[in-house]
Amino acid sequence: AKCGPDGDFSRGEIVPFEPIPLSPFAAVLNYGQSCFEGLKAYRKADGSLLLFRPEENAVRIIDGGDRICMPAPTVEQFVDAVKQTVLANKRWVPPTGKGSLYIRPLLFGSEPVLGLAPPTEYTFLIYVSPVGNYFKEGLAPINLIVEHNFHRAVPGGTGGVKTIGNYASVLKAQTIAKENGYSDVLFLDAIHNKYLEEVSSCNIFIVKGNTISTPPIEGTILPGITRKSIIELAKSKGYEVEERPVSVDESLDADEVFCTGTAVVVSPVGSITYLGKRVEYGGNQGVGVVSQQLYTSLTSLQTGHAEDLMGWTMQLN
Ligand code: PMP
Repeated sequence: AKCGPDGDFSRGEIVPFEPIPLSPFAAVLNYGQSCFEGLKAYRKADGSLLLFRPEENAVRIIDGGDRICMPAPTVEQFVDAVKQTVLANKRWVPPTGKGSLYIRPLLFGSEPVLGLAPPTEYTFLIYVSPVGNYFKEGLAPINLIVEHNFHRAVPGGTGGVKTIGNYASVLKAQTIAKENGYSDVLFLDAIHNKYLEEVSSCNIFIVKGNTISTPPIEGTILPGITRKSIIELAKSKGYEVEERPVSVDESLDADEVFCTGTAVVVSPVGSITYLGKRVEYGGNQGVGVVSQQLYTSLTSLQTGHAEDLMGWTMQLN
């Protein structure tokens, strides 16, 4: 759907997947004016489809749009567009237990502008693709390296919203980490170079005894929907959950570390390497008990294997 100066995104339609026309002057190409989202549709054992908290993604793209001066579809328009797109691509949703349909909404300034200023025309589109596990390790532990030269976010910047530029800025650190055999990069805060922020595409948690801690939402990490859900699930299971600054030293002393995100779901961390020192969790062999428990309860909810007492899933048909 395109919106003009009226900010109305109601004129959407389902079209075949194909290249889209874009002026070389488009605001997105020149000034990175764009936000995206990521959701998944899961197929239940009875063949029907489930979405997980899509209104949360709608709110997040509205917030992101506000940060970079873009109008966004309303929550209702966003959720409706996601539903229509998934239903039109129903045959691409893998069978239960075999993956999911990844849904990628994109919002960007599509009008030609030469000078730096918000344009008056925007495009909102959604494409989908079947996916399996994000990390090749699956639920096997991933290996992270702490990055202390590059930062993905600064206070007052755009790190707290899902703008495309945030991802360009992590590519170099991530590429170097992968070349050195790590699964991904763990970013630190830009002020003290000491507190955990997040991984390239997921949030981070540490477990010590009965307490689960995760960095707070203060504008330099993405407010993950999986993060928010895991906090609630963990509390409902009797864990103490703290949202507070977590130093890298503290994470090295944790019993378990895990990451959360739509793509990674819950990924146990097997090791963290910091300034050349590698710390392993659970001997890097097994998956931590808490990580496993939260993974199981979240995925059984998302795939309809457990009753959704939280009211988080949206049945599509
Ligand atoms: N942090 C970053 C930088 C991300 O790209 C993502 C994925 N959207 C997350 C965290 C996790 O967010 P969510 O749980 O909403 O997928």
